Amino acid sequence: MAVPSEEPPRSGILAHIGHTPLVPLLHIGRGLPAPILVKCEHLNPGGSVKDRLALAIVEDAERRGLLAPGATLCEATAGNTGMGLALVAAVRGYRLVCVMPEKMSHDKRAALSSLGAQVVMTPNAPPDDPENFQQVARRLATENGWFLTDQFCTPVNARIHEETTGPEILAQAGGSVGAFVAGVGTGGTISGVGRFLKRHLPSVRIVLADPVGSSLAAWVESGVPGGDGPYLVEGIGASRPSVILDRAAIDQAERISDEESFAVTQRLVREEGLLVGGSAGTAVAAALRIAARADRADPVVALLPDSWDRYFSQPWMQAWR
Ligand code: PMP
Repeated sequence: MAVPSEEPPRSGILAHIGHTPLVPLLHIGRGLPAPILVKCEHLNPGGSVKDRLALAIVEDAERRGLLAPGATLCEATAGNTGMGLALVAAVRGYRLVCVMPEKMSHDKRAALSSLGAQVVMTPNAPPDDPENFQQVARRLATENGWFLTDQFCTPVNARIHEETTGPEILAQAGGSVGAFVAGVGTGGTISGVGRFLKRHLPSVRIVLADPVGSSLAAWVESGVPGGDGPYLVEGIGASRPSVILDRAAIDQAERISDEESFAVTQRLVREEGLLVGGSAGTAVAAALRIAARADRADPVVALLPDSWDRYFSQPWMQAWR
């Protein structure tokens, strides 16, 4: 007999968000004291780790009665959260407006529009500037009565990783994880996975992989954000931490240059068959350093956030041809 449940069962493709594979690297890092395992979030239906968040935010808002049928969602997104939300909005019958800074790739813009979302571009403005993408999204939502999905502030963000990504990693790794490495955009992934793993494995090291130019590595080390410089890797790094980024869940940071991120990304594609974007290279570059310094053989787990298809038009990937 079916067990009665308050939640309607997820149907169609939404039932296949999460439960992504955890696989060992076969070539990169061979011979290091600890193996590297990668969590393949690029294999989610929308091509990124953000599918988990998109579904969780919409289901949380539905549960709280905040979304009338056909409601409009509005998000400040570098692209991946938009893709996840566009997928969920399409299946659940909502409209979506995405506000993104113009440094983000054309591929991401084209994909969002093709999925039916409206894309609003903003200049690459700092957080205090009224033209900053997060401020513009907030203003548009208030003016138009749209539901602000608010990935940078909502507690749903870290919680979904604490409830799904973290437990999946621990189970798939057979209960042993020496370190977990991830880049940080909103900080939802590292805060949620970090909190879960630390609760179950007190000796695990949680490592923030930060682009050179981002201020977050200095913040992890001293509590004060460091300098603010340009870099090309998309979706990670910041000039200051978001309110949901949990410093207590993070043990250390590694600074990774664009050059190193993109070189490792190319190796992930060509040697491992992992068709991932640049921030995956940042995480694995940091994981290689951690694995090289390891004094025990517990695996180092790196999270691969998104798929390579959103970067085909970027010069760093065009240079591979
Ligand atoms: N990599 C990419 C490509 C992303 O778009 C994001 C999210 N902005 C991240 C990594 C970081 O994930 P989180 O927001 O959970 O910190």
